[in-house]
Amino acid sequence: MRLTNMVPEFMTSFPEQLEPGHLYVSTHFSTAAHLCACSCGSEVITPLSPAQWVLTFDGTISMRPSIGNWALPCQSHYVIDHGAIRWARGFTRDEIQRNRESDHRTLDAAYATQGGWWSRLFHRRKGT
Ligand SMILES: [Zn+2]
Repeated sequence: MRLTNMVPEFMTSFPEQLEPGHLYVSTHFSTAAHLCACSCGSEVITPLSPAQWVLTFDGTISMRPSIGNWALPCQSHYVIDHGAIRWARGFTRDEIQRNRESDHRTLDAAYATQGGWWSRLFHRRKGT
């Protein structure tokens, strides 16, 4: 059964057992986790960063871009939008391949520019 809603749970680290319909957000590890919204029971981990997934919280949660579970047998594809799950169409094999290549380019560019930012944050937190 496809879920229609997702509620946020903010925490430091994830519980061992995830509950369906909950989006677990670790602000400490900048990562979110949930059980696939198609109810197949698979855990879906989404790293949060400008180059990966961006989460917004305004009392409800939204996450961009869409979540495409291409590595799972269900291949489900959806967007979390203000707590609602909006189902999207499945991608063809070619579209999945293009999407992965594009993701890698975006990540490579982000790591190239974020190195300085991370080290500045680290030094600031250490008081240096
Ligand atoms: Zn699924």
